[in-house]
Amino acid sequence: MIYLDNGISVYSGRGYRLDPKRCVRDCINLISHAHFDHVPSSFNSPAIICSDITRSLIEARTGSSIPCGPCSCETVTLHDSGHVPGSSMFLINGDKRILYTGDFNTRKKYFSDGAKPVKADVLIMESTFGREKYVFPPTEEVFGEIKDWIDDNAARGLNSIIYAYSFGKAQEVISALSGYTVYASRSVIEINRTLGKFDLDISAMPLPEDLKGPDVVVAPSGSRNSPEIKKIFKAGAKSASVSGWALDDGHKYAMRVDRAFPLSDHADYSELIGFVEKVSPDLVFTLHGFDKEFARDIRDKLDIEAAPLKKRHLSLSNFTGDV
Ligand SMILES: [Zn+2]
Ligand SMILES: [Zn+2]
Repeated sequence: MIYLDNGISVYSGRGYRLDPKRCVRDCINLISHAHFDHVPSSFNSPAIICSDITRSLIEARTGSSIPCGPCSCETVTLHDSGHVPGSSMFLINGDKRILYTGDFNTRKKYFSDGAKPVKADVLIMESTFGREKYVFPPTEEVFGEIKDWIDDNAARGLNSIIYAYSFGKAQEVISALSGYTVYASRSVIEINRTLGKFDLDISAMPLPEDLKGPDVVVAPSGSRNSPEIKKIFKAGAKSASVSGWALDDGHKYAMRVDRAFPLSDHADYSELIGFVEKVSPDLVFTLHGFDKEFARDIRDKLDIEAAPLKKRHLSLSNFTGDV
C-alpha cells in the first residue's frame, strides 16, 4: 500500500514513512533532504534514516536534534539523488523493490555526478517539471550567460544581486562563480559552514556594512526588502533570479527581477522520462508539479502504468494490488 498521509505512507512487509510531516514511532522514517518542505516538524522516533549531511543541515537549520537509534535498516539503501548536497533517493527492498526519488536531478553538479537510475518494481518520483516545454539548456551555457550579465553590470559600475535559495541553488551559483568575489547573506553563509564540515568548500564572504562594488551578491529572494539589500540597490544594482521556472515568460515579472536564468536542481522533462525508462518499473506514482500530465505521458510514451500519488482512496487497489 502506498498513499499520501503524513508524507508518503508505504507498507511493504513493514511500515515506512517517506518525508513525513512528523516522524512516526512505529515506522521507519526516511528523510530525503534538508529543504524545509521535506523536513519533519518533530523527530520523535528511534528509526529515522537520512544522510549525514542531511542530518547535520536539519539540526543546524531547525535547532532540533535527530535521535539516532538504528540509523540504517537492512531493507533500505540510500542513493545520491543529485538535487542538493546530502539529498538521497531510497530503495526499499520489501515484498517489492520500491524506489523513492525525493527531489532529484540527473545532471552533474559541483557536489554530485547526478542521480543514477536504480532498477525497481515501483517508482515513486517527483514530477515538478513534468511538462514537455521544460527542457533546460546545458548548465555551462546558463552560467556563461550569468557571467556575461555580471560583467556587463560591472562595466557600468553596477552590483549584481542573484536571488537563490539559501540551501542548494546559492551554493551552486557561488561554486560556479569561483573567479569572482561573491558576497552572501547570513543564511547562505550558515549553510556553507555546515557543508564545510563535509569537505564541501563553498567560499563566499559575509555581506559587509558598506559594499564598495561593483560586486556579486547571492541572497534568498525573501531578503529583497531587507535593509542590507535595499542599501545595495541604492548604491546601484541589477537583480536576477535563478530557477527552472525562468522558462516561463512571466517568471521575470513575477519575481520582479531584471533577468531570469533557467537553472534548476530538479530533473527536466526529458531527464524525467529517461529516468523512468531506465528504472523500468511496473508502476509509477508521480508527485509534485505536473503529476497528472506526466503520469499520462508515462502511460502513453512508455506503456508503463502510472498515476499521481493520492490520499488513500478505494480505486488505489486497481493500481497497487499487493504493493
Ligand atoms: Zn528540494
Ligand atoms: Zn521539494
